[in-house]
Amino acid sequence: MDGCIFCKIIKGEIGSTKVYENDKVLAFKDINPVAPVHILIVPKEHIANVNELTPENAGVLADIHLAAKEIAQKLGIAEKGYRLINNCGADAGQTVFHLHYHLIGGTPLGAKLI
Ligand code: AMP
Ligand code: ZN
Repeated sequence: MDGCIFCKIIKGEIGSTKVYENDKVLAFKDINPVAPVHILIVPKEHIANVNELTPENAGVLADIHLAAKEIAQKLGIAEKGYRLINNCGADAGQTVFHLHYHLIGGTPLGAKLI
């Protein structure tokens, strides 16, 4: 989608540090990490957020979770643990309106909201 920073990363118009890629998803390092491991996993298809999921496009959620599993194993944090976080909409603090899941770990993580 025009003007979407993550679509530009997917197209290679903006640089990123890629950690995983297949035909459905791309994962790259967050530019402003909050933990030793902080990866963003995004669908290659532009979907603004969870509100735009449909039965037709929701298969990408499985692809994202499978990518998270692969990345956590590759980075050696699968057994110690990690979080997969999605922010949907303004009240959740979503700043980039292209669906993404934060994979964070590599250290004991802070207080849980839930
Ligand atoms: P959210 O607040 O859930 O919408 O998360 C957006 C995330 O995208 C933030 O953690 C930003 O640090 C990250 N981000 C924004 N621009 C870039 C970029 N060009 N490369 C990597 N991460 C980015
Ligand atoms: Zn996009």
